[in-house]
Amino acid sequence: MKIIDAHSHLEYISYKAQPDIVGTICCATNENDWNVLLNMNDKNVFPAFGIHPWFLENINDGFDVRLSKILEQNKSAMVGEIGLDKYKPNMDKQIEVFIKQLEIAIKHKRPVFIHCVGAWDKIFQILKKYKKSELPIMVAHAFNGSIEIVENLIAGYNIMFSFNRADNIIKNIPDDRILVETDAKSNVVLSDIVDKIADIKNNENMADIIYQNTMRVLNND
Ligand SMILES: [Zn+2]
Repeated sequence: MKIIDAHSHLEYISYKAQPDIVGTICCATNENDWNVLLNMNDKNVFPAFGIHPWFLENINDGFDVRLSKILEQNKSAMVGEIGLDKYKPNMDKQIEVFIKQLEIAIKHKRPVFIHCVGAWDKIFQILKKYKKSELPIMVAHAFNGSIEIVENLIAGYNIMFSFNRADNIIKNIPDDRILVETDAKSNVVLSDIVDKIADIKNNENMADIIYQNTMRVLNND
């Protein structure tokens, strides 16, 4: 089986640990991560640059300018992990930082990796302000929203859903929108997750389909 981990972090470069994983999308959570990722030079690690909503207290002025510059200089760099989390403080600041980063992704036309916990209503409000045609590929990571949210996202956006467990909602998600991720957890064995998804979808080709889905994100098309 050939799998690309659609969401990990620097503490777990999953392709080095699991033989079925051939590449790892590695999401930054803060600016220190950006520097590590920029110096990594590993062709099996696909970096995304962003500031995670859990780590806004250490945010430095000018982060948006520096993020723009990284994207300008690295044509395959993606944006993430960015988002909103209802259970974390300072939603106004979270929204402000999310919008700044989303607009940078729009400007540079890069895939975006989204962390959203209990805040899809707010994200829909934000997305409404943009033309659907200008929004980039978005990946809803560790998705655990409702079927209604799935339907609204699929109807309106170039959205993918990545999973680190074989959730039942997968039944309601089209095959060509599904990705798998470790989320940097070493106990999440992606070949097992893919097998379980193949069972849920009753489709023995899911491993190939998930791989091709991830390649579409990486190729930005
Ligand atoms: Zn993450």
